[in-house]
Amino acid sequence: MISAPPREQRLRAAATRIRRHALTMGEVQGQGYIGQALGVADILAVFYARGDGELRLRPEDPGWDGRDRFLLSIGHYAIALYAALAEAGTIPLEELETYGADESRLPMSGMASYTPGMEISGGSLGHGLGVACGMGLALRHRGNPARVFTLLSDGELDEGSTWEAAMACAHHELGNVTAIVDVNGLQADGPTPGVLRTEPVTEKWRAFGWHAVRVDGNDIPALLDGLAELRAHTGGPSVLICDTRIGRGVPFLESREKAHFMPVAEHEWQAARDQLEGAHQ
Ligand SMILES: [Mg+2]
Repeated sequence: MISAPPREQRLRAAATRIRRHALTMGEVQGQGYIGQALGVADILAVFYARGDGELRLRPEDPGWDGRDRFLLSIGHYAIALYAALAEAGTIPLEELETYGADESRLPMSGMASYTPGMEISGGSLGHGLGVACGMGLALRHRGNPARVFTLLSDGELDEGSTWEAAMACAHHELGNVTAIVDVNGLQADGPTPGVLRTEPVTEKWRAFGWHAVRVDGNDIPALLDGLAELRAHTGGPSVLICDTRIGRGVPFLESREKAHFMPVAEHEWQAARDQLEGAHQ
């Protein structure tokens, strides 16, 4: 009898598939925020992997009221979330080929009215945590035990609205709200430390009343340990701060000069998928 591979191994394989799905979509349009998508693939695998993910979901019924909500505050990371929703089984794999096309349910920036499983229209940055706060309050009021997660970028820590929402979540003791911060060290205007210094990130969240844990966001066991610690914390909001590497999983993209919108030449998409296979399987 062949035993099933351990959960970590299954999650690594799921992360590789998420990266591959993102590269497929990137090739369709010749663009996409692929560097960021590769960077957060491990995080999304830990949340969305079918049978293994942190989220309580019914993939075929994305409107189920008991589901955990996962809010993509960073709407430009939509390519990454579509890849994860395909992995979860909410979006058919073949639909990824429609990415960014007219009439597609998969527009290049995340929009709730288009895509099953896309909870909010993100991309006016700095709004996800405020929405999570409202959802957390409403769920608690209704006695619904679902949890609310929101994925933010380190660039969104420049937004005052993020910190206003952080205060509100702590004030209302929203134990059902968890933030995940993708600290990739880069934002649209350049490297994060040069645009607006956000460190020390962990201490800032703690000062705002959050239970904060910082992990390597490309290390699946570390992500699982971090989430387990957050799950054990009750009585207030918690945040998983994830240090990630842009282009992770595709060595020639990981070592490419970092750019918010990473250019990938037409012939490089297949090369990227080849490197991905080599790196992880
Ligand atoms: Mg960033």
